[in-house]
Amino acid sequence: MASAPTFYDILGVSRSASTDEIKKAYRKLAFDLHPDRHVGASAEEVERLTVRMSEASEAYEVLSDQSLRAEYDARLRLGFSDHQSAGTSNLPRQPGPGECMFCGHGPATLIELHQGIGLIITRRKGVVRINACKGCAKAMFRQVQNDTLIKGWWGIIAFFANIGYVLHNLGTLSTISSMAEPRPPSEPLLVPLAHPMPPGRPLLRRAGVWISVIAFVIAGAIIAGHNANSSNSAASSSSASTASGTSGSSGSSGASGATTQLSFTTGSCITASGNSITGVTGCDNSHYAKIVGVTGTSGQCPASTTNTYTEQSGDANPGKVVCFDNTQ
Ligand SMILES: [Zn+2]
Repeated sequence: MASAPTFYDILGVSRSASTDEIKKAYRKLAFDLHPDRHVGASAEEVERLTVRMSEASEAYEVLSDQSLRAEYDARLRLGFSDHQSAGTSNLPRQPGPGECMFCGHGPATLIELHQGIGLIITRRKGVVRINACKGCAKAMFRQVQNDTLIKGWWGIIAFFANIGYVLHNLGTLSTISSMAEPRPPSEPLLVPLAHPMPPGRPLLRRAGVWISVIAFVIAGAIIAGHNANSSNSAASSSSASTASGTSGSSGSSGASGATTQLSFTTGSCITASGNSITGVTGCDNSHYAKIVGVTGTSGQCPASTTNTYTEQSGDANPGKVVCFDNTQ
């Protein structure tokens, strides 16, 4: 049985042959075995060619299909080289619940990894559900998380969803880490790998983490820019409400100190930007408010006062309270 030709033998290719090489070998064989190339052959010879052709077709059908080929390779590794036994009961069984679907080692746990792929307007989410041993689970975690870290950020909805995926996967990693070390199965199983997958490079040595850092820097810049805009608009709306308010009884509320020395005299007007007094000007010019008094305390301001400003050390009369009427 062990000496029976494998599908690879039938097509005359090596076990590491590419799909292309397999295709070429099959085409050549089909050409060589074609009855038109054997005109005048005996009935026995034609019969032999026909059998070889059907074997080649069967071999090609399996080896040209990635998943069928992987399954077939797994059988070969377990010593089932006779392709004639395919589908019969002496095949190894499929791995069960406690057995890794990749290598058959146990214990295996059902784990779920989320893969986020950000697009500009929408996003896709891939869920990888595998029943795997610690070694294979860790390898899959690293691969999926790295992909997610590279591809998951690039979109507005995707960005926030991806944070969820990455955190979910990290939670899964702690489950994986607590698993027992894989042990080989007690009987041969129909699995593609003979050993647990090598875990591969740690995440910190893959591109994903660093691409994520860049994604977060960009997102941070966008968010900071947004906040600066909204605090600017908040500032101007708060100054507008100050302007319409009825009193500014506390010292410097509603107006903060100017940088150049200003002399506040009753009857002059002030210009302002935001919450800052920017200058003193004649009331014929465009202005923010009229100075209706300069007093010792805000309580001494005239009744029409809407805002006050306590002169600072850089002003002409530090400590004096300037009373404004922003309706004049
Ligand atoms: Zn495994």
